[in-house]
Amino acid sequence: MKRAVITDFDGTITTKDFYWLAIESGWPEGEAAYRDWKEGKWKDRDFLQESFRRIAHGSDSVEELTDQIPYDHTFPAFFRRVKEAGHDVYIVSAGADYYIRRFFDKLGIEVDGLYANPSYSAEGALWFDLDPSWEHYNDRYGISKKSVVEAIAAGYDETCYIGDSEPDRHAAGAVDLMFARDQLIEILRREGRPFHPIAAFSEVADVLQKQGWIK
Ligand SMILES: [Mg+2]
Repeated sequence: MKRAVITDFDGTITTKDFYWLAIESGWPEGEAAYRDWKEGKWKDRDFLQESFRRIAHGSDSVEELTDQIPYDHTFPAFFRRVKEAGHDVYIVSAGADYYIRRFFDKLGIEVDGLYANPSYSAEGALWFDLDPSWEHYNDRYGISKKSVVEAIAAGYDETCYIGDSEPDRHAAGAVDLMFARDQLIEILRREGRPFHPIAAFSEVADVLQKQGWIK
């Protein structure tokens, strides 16, 4: 049985989205802008880019902020158990690949695939380098999670997905097992989708163990 664990990064593996670190560092009006974004007044990729651009106005560098990202400390053990069972682990994020790569490098974790928005660090800020001709491109998020998750799932017998917010709802129909934390719980409840509510990767492990995925 070929199985894959697919997970979001910000707010799912980490406990605070990177854009919040950027806002708190260099964008005093960012909290008001966040509310506008949630009301649909910004495209996701524009809001994230603006928060990343403001890092140049803060006192911490992109790299220093990356090294401060708080995360779920049950994730590394979860990752090891999934790998020991022979399954693959993918990260699918509408955030920037730059800080995600740095985060995993620091933890010494090598995932089987990372799908995120291409990005680079320059002039004290973080910049998206999006390619509208990419097969998984989406104008709102930069990356279409639905398209990526469907493409990954096509190569496996069984897949699961773990996420925390609105962009993750697009993965729900494409996997066999769905896990939600924080905002995503209410979103999936409203949509009447089956899912497991969780607060940490240790709880994902409990469910995967019961379902025979891991020991
Ligand atoms: Mg997230």
